Amino acid sequence: MNSDRSFHLLVRAALFSLCCAAFAVPARGEVDFVVHISVDGLRGDVLQNIVANPPMPASTTYPSFRRLQTEGAFTYHARSDYFYTETVPNHISMITGRPTDQPAGQPNTVHHGYTSNFPGASHTIHANGNPAVAYKASTFDVVHDHGLSTNLYTSKTRLSILDRSYDATNGALDTIGADNGRDKIDNAQLVDGTSANIVTNFVASMTATPRNYTFLHLVEPDTTGHANGWTNQAWYDSVKTIDDRLAQIFSLVDDSPVLRGHTAIVLTGDHGGGVNIHVTPTAYENYNVPLFVWGADLPAGADLYELSPNRFDPGLGRPDYNSPQQPWRNGDTANLSMMLLGLPPIPGSTMQPALALVPEPGSALLALVGIAACGVIARRRLLRAARPRYPRSSAVRVPTRTVG
Ligand SMILES: [Zn+2]
Repeated sequence: MNSDRSFHLLVRAALFSLCCAAFAVPARGEVDFVVHISVDGLRGDVLQNIVANPPMPASTTYPSFRRLQTEGAFTYHARSDYFYTETVPNHISMITGRPTDQPAGQPNTVHHGYTSNFPGASHTIHANGNPAVAYKASTFDVVHDHGLSTNLYTSKTRLSILDRSYDATNGALDTIGADNGRDKIDNAQLVDGTSANIVTNFVASMTATPRNYTFLHLVEPDTTGHANGWTNQAWYDSVKTIDDRLAQIFSLVDDSPVLRGHTAIVLTGDHGGGVNIHVTPTAYENYNVPLFVWGADLPAGADLYELSPNRFDPGLGRPDYNSPQQPWRNGDTANLSMMLLGLPPIPGSTMQPALALVPEPGSALLALVGIAACGVIARRRLLRAARPRYPRSSAVRVPTRTVG
């Protein structure tokens, strides 16, 4: 028995008495790298239909989406933010784990409050969002402040508010462990209109310098939807474009001994589309988005709702933030990504999904349903200490920003 195995057994024994759920849970699900992907305008019901029944089988099939769902866990019934089905507000939810607006009856410190879809050139989430929260922490804060490295790639330059809010000027002081500086984003590239180059550049960058957390925004289904609508061959083709980009990312992971087996992909959409383009937040077509989790050793092909004790399939509905049965939301992907990296929740975030993992084969008759998110995260933080880490190299410490 090697020392690593001994450590795990020791941790399991300790957790058996410590963990609030009191289950001994193997270290399944945790990874060293997360690629957190937002596909702009990725409408859930249409995606589900075309992946299941390709509209032109000879030319338009979706092997990458099929791989996400046959090898990972997924749902086509996730939700956008309750209040807005627009790009910028939803992306801020995806990195902060906060709603856009204040839910009725909840404290005024819950929401991020940045509701414009067209940020001013100097806007930050902090200065121009909810004034009751001076600093809105993000996925980038948690990863960076724990000594790990980050990438941001977007194919709308409007999303530069994500970069600007966490740069060397506007990012918070790093008070956790070693001081890694205020700039939470080590490498950023923001372009307009096509995701072709950013995916190619992301693959090249990760091959040379693997970074632990990447937020990657892919634009095509939104621009095509604006031009042509969401239920036609042009839109199906735009999803095929995304499928091809995902194939590049799968190849990156498959071909890298560093990434293979240690990388999760979390993919969702900011909103769907088809009713008043996509700005009407009460329309099912607009608020229904998919959510895929791949590479986290979840049961292959599982329904994400079956794996969570605190997320409930909303059917066609639109539960608000006070509903006792919260759906999976795109904003859940913030803390989901942190959980998969073995990191704690984002400070101030309120969307905290729990994931109940399955036991390793032979690891006793432990039903894991009902594990609280706190228990899952606490366990992972302990186990994390025994895992190889990929801290920043000196090259990683030099931030790069490209806009154009
Ligand atoms: Zn749009």
